[in-house]
Amino acid sequence: MPLTGHQLIGATARRGSGEAFHAVHAASGEIIADPAFHGASLADVDEACTLAARAFDTYRALPDEARAAFLDDIAARIEAIGDALILRAMDETGLPRARLEGERARTTGQLRMFAALVRSGDAWDARIEPALPQRQPPRTDLRLRRIGIGPVAVFGASNFPLAFSVAGGDTASALAAGCPVVVKAHPAHPGTSELVGLAVQAAIAAAGLPEGVFSLLFDAGHEVGAALVAHPAIQAVGFTGSRRGGLALMAIAAARPAPIPVYAEMSSVNPNILLPAALARRGEALARDFVASVTLGCGQFCTNPGLVLAVGGEAFERFVAAAASAIAAVPAGVMLTAGIARAYAEGVERLASHPAVTTVAQGAKASGRATASLFRVRATDLLADARLAEECFGPCSVLVECEDADQLRRVLEQGEGQLTATLHVDDADHDAARALLPVLERKAGRILANGFPTGVEVCDAMVHGGPFPATSDGRSTSVGTAAIERFLRPVCYQNLPDALLPDALRDGNPLGLRRRVGGKVEAVATPA
Ligand code: NAP
Repeated sequence: MPLTGHQLIGATARRGSGEAFHAVHAASGEIIADPAFHGASLADVDEACTLAARAFDTYRALPDEARAAFLDDIAARIEAIGDALILRAMDETGLPRARLEGERARTTGQLRMFAALVRSGDAWDARIEPALPQRQPPRTDLRLRRIGIGPVAVFGASNFPLAFSVAGGDTASALAAGCPVVVKAHPAHPGTSELVGLAVQAAIAAAGLPEGVFSLLFDAGHEVGAALVAHPAIQAVGFTGSRRGGLALMAIAAARPAPIPVYAEMSSVNPNILLPAALARRGEALARDFVASVTLGCGQFCTNPGLVLAVGGEAFERFVAAAASAIAAVPAGVMLTAGIARAYAEGVERLASHPAVTTVAQGAKASGRATASLFRVRATDLLADARLAEECFGPCSVLVECEDADQLRRVLEQGEGQLTATLHVDDADHDAARALLPVLERKAGRILANGFPTGVEVCDAMVHGGPFPATSDGRSTSVGTAAIERFLRPVCYQNLPDALLPDALRDGNPLGLRRRVGGKVEAVATPA
């Protein structure tokens, strides 16, 4: 399917009237001349948001089965694009085929997972507290369910051109919640975005849904994104990217006459803690697995293990030596964009030139490529300069040598909020690990043992979130079924006649939902 560079506003595909920009071959840095993508004008932003607001009531009132079938259909249409999607994404991002095929499977898998969640009705969280007329004072009938929050603005992430982009987790969870979505495509993969956007647009037409359920806008500057977040029709924002970008969008959202929540996933160094018995027994193997995790996808994962903590000594030195030889063998890698490569090079230089930091080893160097880098620092120096623990987005990690367990704990206490924290433990380390768990629970959204945080399972029990700056709201996750909660809002119905109640809350439970009635989960008849 030839690309047009057109933005998708409701059912239309048309050239934006803003400035033109081009996709770039990530590997060569050359411009992909055809097509030019034109940024949206402020009038385009207004039209997309107005259509979304107009679509909201019809879309959220769809029966669960119809909304679920729509999500399934988007998944099928993304698969039907076939290799053209993978080839375009490879060109635009420099990510390898296997990674992108896996990401496509994750994207369609999560659309289907949200379809199943919608079919179950569990996310509506139906609760009924029957009237208590005899009580003094009497209580009236109270019923609660959750509804979509309203139109959602989604910012495609550069590092997941499918799974966190146009029809990625933010969009899938918002659509599942019954919210129309206006996507601001990431300029690093506009062609990939157009292909996926057309699939969503076609699914809307096939289902006969209001056109404003989805729009896709382009822009290679900040104007469109800022206008989108400020638009009165938008009720929530999903974002993955830099701390600076996330904070800017949060400030815009907070300054609106009616402020809205911004669910921004921003920065995390994902500390890995090597406890003594594990380090002594299998330090070298841990070092090799750690380097594989740091350099996976050229380090461009939000869950990259950017900080390793251990008590110093002979076992730690063996770990450092093994990690050094593994890093030295890593080829130079292609980064997603020239801007990200530049930010990485600056981050590496900032660490390398810091007087308290030692460069342990670096991988191969090549022009226009990122060099994997490993640094070490004493915990005393890190405690004196917390900037040494800031994210350096790319294949880079800092090893922190602690004097003892207490100092290791203080480094964690000083650290910022994280998406993940990982313990490498043997049985003999359990007491030490148990002592750290309360700190890790306060600091991180996901706590792992004996694994590496890159690799995020999409399922009911996943949390991909964490206290600031990992995310702007540590109560949320952007991966897994719980991601839908960001875009739902509870509504209580007090004393409404049965005929006026939504089906989810009516007497007789016509939708067969699992409901909490009078404090107990109502028995639901299962089909024979
Ligand atoms: P970014 O610069 O934050 O941009 C992400 C999206 O937000 C883009 O669409 C961008 O639009 C928009 N945006 C950024 N600042 C904005 C503002 N002030 N107003 C309105 N819109 C704004 O992230 P990126 O391009 O993906 O990568 C840059 C850096 O972000 C990386 O070097 C890395 O440090 C970090 N990053 C972190 C993660 C993570 O998960 N921790 C993931 C990806 C990137 P424009 O096109 O207008 O710029």
